Amino acid sequence: MRDWTQGVAQLVYQQCARCGHRWYLPRPACPRCAATAVERRRSTGIGTVVAVTTVHRAPAGGHHPPTPFGICLVELAEAVRVMGRCPTDLAPGDRVGVDFRDGVPRFAKRA
Ligand SMILES: [Zn+2]
Repeated sequence: MRDWTQGVAQLVYQQCARCGHRWYLPRPACPRCAATAVERRRSTGIGTVVAVTTVHRAPAGGHHPPTPFGICLVELAEAVRVMGRCPTDLAPGDRVGVDFRDGVPRFAKRA
């Protein structure tokens, strides 16, 4: 199952087939029990902001939006945490959903 890093506009996480542990960054084995039977699953892209910061000066190189822009850590509904771009007015506890403007995850408030 492909994700946004491979050109498909979706968030994909992994889940251990043995112990059920879930995580975001792809690994060949479960970080909890070391089982190699891992499944890739599509996230709903809905979650809650855990932390947010505002970038006023983007790092050199790469493709960044105009500053200032927000970066947030989101706990997805599947209990996996992921980072993405966001508006600068988000706050911890806000309910958000993802889209893939400019090809990267971007979170915005949901009703
Ligand atoms: Zn496991």
